[in-house]
Amino acid sequence: MPTVLILMSDTGGGHRASAQALQAGFTNRFGKRFQVEIVDLWKSHTPWPVNRLPDSYSPLVSHGMPFWKFMWYVSGQSSITTPVLATAERLVRRSVWQMFHQYRPDLVISVHPLMQKIPQRVLHRVYPHVPFVTVITDLGSITPVWFHRQVDRCFVPTQAAYREGLRAGLLPEQLRVFGLPVRPAFARPQREKTEVRRELQLDPDRLTALIVGGGEGMGPVARIVESSAQRLAADGRHAQLVVICGRNEKLRTTLNSRNWPLPVHVLGFVDNMPDWMAAVDCIVTKAGPGTIAESMISGLPVLLSGYIPGQETGNIPFVVDNGAGAFNEDPAQIASILSRWFGPEQDRLAEMSAISRSLGRPQSTFEIVDEIAGMVRDS
Ligand code: UDP
Repeated sequence: MPTVLILMSDTGGGHRASAQALQAGFTNRFGKRFQVEIVDLWKSHTPWPVNRLPDSYSPLVSHGMPFWKFMWYVSGQSSITTPVLATAERLVRRSVWQMFHQYRPDLVISVHPLMQKIPQRVLHRVYPHVPFVTVITDLGSITPVWFHRQVDRCFVPTQAAYREGLRAGLLPEQLRVFGLPVRPAFARPQREKTEVRRELQLDPDRLTALIVGGGEGMGPVARIVESSAQRLAADGRHAQLVVICGRNEKLRTTLNSRNWPLPVHVLGFVDNMPDWMAAVDCIVTKAGPGTIAESMISGLPVLLSGYIPGQETGNIPFVVDNGAGAFNEDPAQIASILSRWFGPEQDRLAEMSAISRSLGRPQSTFEIVDEIAGMVRDS
């Protein structure tokens, strides 16, 4: 059975979610014909201090924003990244080689910008015929380190990303535009919202907003819930809120200890995001690429409440300029937008929902894995 190895890192929820989407895509399409393994390359297969880098991501983007912005700027300067990556390669070469030796992959997929050049070079030094493929998991802002000219194929989410790939020196035959990989469950046919709400024990008749903050429950989610619940109730909207806190247990406990003027359903990390998105009328989220792509497939108007400078900056015009939603970082303003969407602007809500759905790429994962499976067979 051919082995496909997916390299990712737990920096945010998106890379793991994309890796799992591809793994599920293989199972869905090919049953047990491929062995698909997911590996956190830096954490599990490199020496100190590189193996500690993934753990610093969350605190860095939550509390060290100026430094993160600087890092993002630096990641676009090849005069800096080239020597840094060369030093890192010397540090991790041996352990990366051991990892490939352990898994003996027939094809390698990388879903992380910092897992391109180094693993590709190590792989092709020892296994020159094993294809190395990049699947880009960012949407509107794509750092140049994603693009490595020696990869066998690079899957990009949008035409704009395709043009960036060409500018970075990749050839048209290396690039494919299929959309972001999302879990196959998002490709299921759309169901009646009221039916899904009943299944999830929500009130089937209330207009429903989903509030999330990525896999880590980041950003001012508590203040957004507070303002929105008060405002929707004060304006007499027949509404309810679903809040998914991800891995942020503190947020979940805080929200659960409150009394609300309308139904507020607070959840931790959920494995059935497609169901929650199918149940609601719109989403309030930070500008995470995974959540945006999933919301579009689910036909949800997207109210962006924040972004991580750098990799999420370009996701704001992607949503707003396309007419699929709005952007506002102020919890009080977010509450007032929601109240308008659930009140006098319900027609606009329906329009944005249609635009959002038209931008969604529900087949992206299948298209990507079909092509990759062909590469394994040809290699
Ligand atoms: N997610 C999930 N369950 C949760 C919270 C988030 O499955 O309880 C998923 C979400 O559906 C998306 C990913 O985590 O696929 C978050 O990715 P995104 O790119 O939006 O943000 P990140 O967390 O990477 O910053």
